[in-house]
Amino acid sequence: MRLLVVEDDRDLNRQIVSALEEAGYAVDRAYDGEEGHFLGDTEPYDAVVLDIGLPKKDGIAVLQEWRAAGRKMPVLILTARDRWSDKVQGFDSGADDYVAKPFHMEEVLARIRALLRRAAGHATSDIVCGPVRLDTRAGRVVVDGAAVKLTSHEYRLLAYLMHHTGRVISRTELVEHLYDQDFDRDSNTIEVFVGRLRKKLGVDMIQTVRGLGYLMTPPEPAAPASKPAR
Ligand code: CA
Repeated sequence: MRLLVVEDDRDLNRQIVSALEEAGYAVDRAYDGEEGHFLGDTEPYDAVVLDIGLPKKDGIAVLQEWRAAGRKMPVLILTARDRWSDKVQGFDSGADDYVAKPFHMEEVLARIRALLRRAAGHATSDIVCGPVRLDTRAGRVVVDGAAVKLTSHEYRLLAYLMHHTGRVISRTELVEHLYDQDFDRDSNTIEVFVGRLRKKLGVDMIQTVRGLGYLMTPPEPAAPASKPAR
């Protein structure tokens, strides 16, 4: 999952970005409304954290322009103090949620998780596909009841596939959603990561759809479970 943080307060921007990176997301950052608007308009983010009070272009205007241009990514706005008018204006402009400053970073993380899973049609923080369970709160993966240790890149890849089960995901889409803009992107590495992930999961759930990409689906219902639980 790839996120954008638009916040002009450099300290706060850094804090939010590092908390999100630590939680396993690829994160791009912007420090004013123009830069933020441009990135959100041209890059495919899974969600955006958008401050309302921004230099060059305020957050409400940025949001309105994105929505007018058909950009549908979930947006969490940061409102100064507990100003109800900011929230109303924000929601009316297309915001999906808000956090009022000052906030606890845990709350931002929880709201981002909720926005991402809602956007993908999941109701809880645990996402299940066949024997694989992704705990998006703890960043843990369990297969048939046993914890599986993944690197941050492998986790990011699995999280993206699990949020979009049943849909063919192209390699280009994966590259765009797994790496931030400064990363040296190479779609060939995706193949390597998918290979490692398959091996670590030990269950055959990530199909290669020739020429199109990857598809994650639960194993065929007719097939017996690979082994009884414990
Ligand atoms: Ca600000």
